[in-house]
Amino acid sequence: MILADLATGEKAVIVRVNGHGSFRKRLIEMGFIQGKEVKVVLNAPLKDPIEYEIIGYKVSLRREEARNIEVVSVEEAREALSTDEHLQALPGDLEETERLDRALAHVAEERHHNIRVALVGNPNCGKTSLFNIASGSHEHVGNYSGVTVDAKEGHFKFKGYDITLVDLPGTYSLSAYSPEELYVRKNLLDAMPDVVVNVVDASNIERNLYLTTQLIDMNLRTVMALNMYDELQHKGDKLDIKQLGYLLGMPVCPTVSRDGQGIPELFDTVIKIYEQSNPKLARHIHVNHGAELEKSIKRLQMIIYGNKDIYSHYSTRYLAIKYLERDKDVEKTLSGIPEASSLQEARTEEEARIRELLGTSPESAIVDAKYAFIQGALAETYERYQEERPRRTLTDKIDAIVTNQWLAFPIFLVLLWFIFWATFTIGQYPMDWIDWCVAKFGDWVGSMMADGWVKDLVVDGVIAGVGSVLVFLPNIMILYFFISIMEDSGYMARAAFIVDKLMHKIGLHGKSFIPMVMGFGCNVPAIMATRSIESRKSRLVTIAIIPFMSCAGRLPIFVLFAGAFFPSNPATALLGIYLLGIVLAILSALVLSKFVKDDDLPFVMELPPYRVPTGKAIWRHTWEKGRQYLEKMATTILLFSVLIWFLGYFPRHEGQSTAYQQEHSYIGMVGKAIEPVNEPLGFNWKMDVGLLAGVGAKELVISTMGVMYAQDREEYEGLGDEDDTQLQAALKATVPTAAALAFMVFVLLYFPCIATFVAIKNETGKWRWAILLALYTILVAWVCAFAAYRIGLLVWPI
Ligand code: GDP
Ligand code: MG
Repeated sequence: MILADLATGEKAVIVRVNGHGSFRKRLIEMGFIQGKEVKVVLNAPLKDPIEYEIIGYKVSLRREEARNIEVVSVEEAREALSTDEHLQALPGDLEETERLDRALAHVAEERHHNIRVALVGNPNCGKTSLFNIASGSHEHVGNYSGVTVDAKEGHFKFKGYDITLVDLPGTYSLSAYSPEELYVRKNLLDAMPDVVVNVVDASNIERNLYLTTQLIDMNLRTVMALNMYDELQHKGDKLDIKQLGYLLGMPVCPTVSRDGQGIPELFDTVIKIYEQSNPKLARHIHVNHGAELEKSIKRLQMIIYGNKDIYSHYSTRYLAIKYLERDKDVEKTLSGIPEASSLQEARTEEEARIRELLGTSPESAIVDAKYAFIQGALAETYERYQEERPRRTLTDKIDAIVTNQWLAFPIFLVLLWFIFWATFTIGQYPMDWIDWCVAKFGDWVGSMMADGWVKDLVVDGVIAGVGSVLVFLPNIMILYFFISIMEDSGYMARAAFIVDKLMHKIGLHGKSFIPMVMGFGCNVPAIMATRSIESRKSRLVTIAIIPFMSCAGRLPIFVLFAGAFFPSNPATALLGIYLLGIVLAILSALVLSKFVKDDDLPFVMELPPYRVPTGKAIWRHTWEKGRQYLEKMATTILLFSVLIWFLGYFPRHEGQSTAYQQEHSYIGMVGKAIEPVNEPLGFNWKMDVGLLAGVGAKELVISTMGVMYAQDREEYEGLGDEDDTQLQAALKATVPTAAALAFMVFVLLYFPCIATFVAIKNETGKWRWAILLALYTILVAWVCAFAAYRIGLLVWPI
């Protein structure tokens, strides 16, 4: 009996909840658990939803949802009382209600132990052999495709369970192209087996896993029978079964269905999955189809999700993928829903977008993505004993070079170096042009306005602020131009693979590497690039450590200080600073990955084939990042720039020198106020003001200190070495070497800059993270600078 058919006032006991994973999960969370009693509060024939009472709570379920719940009704229990031997043996003096309750529980338990298991797999993977050996029946076992034309059922008892095994026709895929494929699909969705056994031919694993990826989309309870395991072993291939299971989100059991090896373990696992007795055994994963397709899938899925009746039947993700593929059967299913027209409209748009960006139809792009997923999963788990076949495809040939154990790292580093070189060298030109234009524009506007604070606000606050945002735009776009090429060509996936093992050592992921390296250029695009990391934990930790990667904005400060204070070996000082950043990043990663909530189960790193990226896609991705930078960053950065300007400008001291104005402005006051805090580091208040200005952008540290030391400059003229700048000379005369070292350390580590701060907020979605990280970096900076100062004092006493 199903729950939807119970009348008002009736009670029943739950046998099982059918349907796809996320639907079942929701119902179970509501309390619809096997063995629990449920009572119908109100079920009017035409009324939806129906109201139930379960574990003392009232909940409503839609009729469609209630159809997926199998129950034992009182009537059925009564019947069992008169027929079931076990129940007839109940003591005679039991009260009627007690007797009925026991009957209900007994029948529910018994039915719960009847499970339907469907065998799904490619032709010739050994399904029928498995079926025969498990159920003891003797179907014809043949070594050619198409022997099984329709489903066969067999029954057998296993550890107290009555298992109904269904041998479905062999299919390579679950598209609706052939009658077999459609048949299997209908069976999985309508007859709803409790557990699907995906039989996979281990000697031909790559092709077989394609079907598996489609089962993953359907989000059914699946166990993989890795059949013909004897052949895999015979060939000498190695497969990390446990890891493969992790990556695919389902348990994998090696079997040899010709002689029955592994079959008991397989059904043990089937029962564990059915009872969900071990949550670690399976997890819900998504086959990642790449950013663009995923965007389309999400969009369609959201529309489908709006229809609650559809939702209770099918995984909406599965429907969205199939609909995007123009699957006729799914189109029919979805044609009747009220959302049909908006769905169709969305698909037309998404199809055009995918065609434009990827140069193919969504359907073939999805197939490619699934194979990329399989390649990635196998690259991590599967080792061929020997290359049986010569490398043939272009992808194989390129891979032989770029992932070669000796060449991989050098090639990778050269590519990175080139990208940085291009970003900063080529980027310098448009940067200078923008700088020039902004300055000229500022002058022009300044000449049009009357003197006063409004003019200063517009020229020095707003226009200079906008300028400081704009100058980075070329860098960001050039960087992303190359990143897009690396990504779309398929190289990035390899790069992530190459460094993956290394990154795992610090609790991160291969995909974290690129953003980290980008951090040396500019933290902002680096943090934006973390978006490609699926794992939330890896992503947060990566974001958190990027600020320790010394960005180009900090370089001038180090150059200035290293030149002034360590003239004999400035390069060593510089290198030391960069290394310190890296070491602290690694340490922080190690520490933080302990604290961030762990969702960091391994996931597949897709390995798509190499292809020439389309110009459209590259342009789109590049522009997308540029736009994001302008849109999301600009407003906030501008706001903070104006704020910093304001703090330095007020209160006014007309007629005084700029240095005097700075000293007696709010920022100067704050600098002086925090002087005691930074005194243990050996900093004077001028340095503190420089640091405060650096909050806006690290570039401002030098210019601000230049202003602050303007008076001292004259005093100390000629004191420094010949090639020292005036600021260097002034610093050398007033700042002890140990304090200078501490200052470099502090600049390296403390609060990244406004733009980075905003980027962190945008990418994590929370101010909380940005603020937390700001505090964390300041704390680390202080502690390290303190240590540097104290150690420095031993080497260079004052
Ligand atoms: P189906 O098409 O998936 O139903 O596959 P069959 O059960 O008809 O098996 C196809 C062929 O594979 C038969 O010749 C079987 O004897 C053989 N076979 C099945 N399982 C295994 C196995 O585990 N190891 C080996 N070596 N051969 C197997
Ligand atoms: Mg068969």
